[in-house]
Amino acid sequence: MASSGPTGKRLTVLSGPSGVGKSTVVAELRRSHPEVWLSVSVTTRAPRPGETHGVEYFFVGDGEFDRMIAAGDLLEWAEFAGNRYGTPRVPVERKLAGGVPTLLEIDLQGARQVRETMPEALLVFLAPPSWEELESRLRGRGTEPEDVIARRLAAGRVELAAEKEFDLSLVNTAVSEVCGRLIALMR
Ligand code: 5GP
Repeated sequence: MASSGPTGKRLTVLSGPSGVGKSTVVAELRRSHPEVWLSVSVTTRAPRPGETHGVEYFFVGDGEFDRMIAAGDLLEWAEFAGNRYGTPRVPVERKLAGGVPTLLEIDLQGARQVRETMPEALLVFLAPPSWEELESRLRGRGTEPEDVIARRLAAGRVELAAEKEFDLSLVNTAVSEVCGRLIALMR
């Protein structure tokens, strides 16, 4: 099925390096632009405090995730930091066919898969204002051992290089500004 038809909408994908603030942007969009439909992913990771099944994610076991892959139920999926994440296919196709602006917030591996399977999708890269900014976010509160921090920083550099694979970049200077620009792109 195509990602857009005569009345359909183009799929928009928001991706970017880990730690850049994608989930903050999505939380703000959910609050300020309820007309945008945000795909709810399935994940094998455990819920964090405050997360609700069906809101941030559908939390599933490994067996159910395997079943969904085998059945072709996932538009894309990826393993990230020891857990699996995937986008349920049918809801996305239904929303697009109904003309609803539809957004996926997924990691870089997932964005590459969407590029292959839905070439007409708009791929937006969320970039940090600077490398130093990303570094300080990745370092967080400084409670992790230096070797873990070093691995995350190395991964961050590789992730930043993915920017050129995207249709466009938005620099995450202010969340409200990023949301406004995303909405304008999705209209
Ligand atoms: P978190 O565990 O912090 O909620 O998410 C970890 C990473 O998984 C984030 O980079 C997020 O964008 C990504 N992610 C969330 N849902 C999906 C999905 O359905 N597919 C892919 N490929 N990545 C996802």
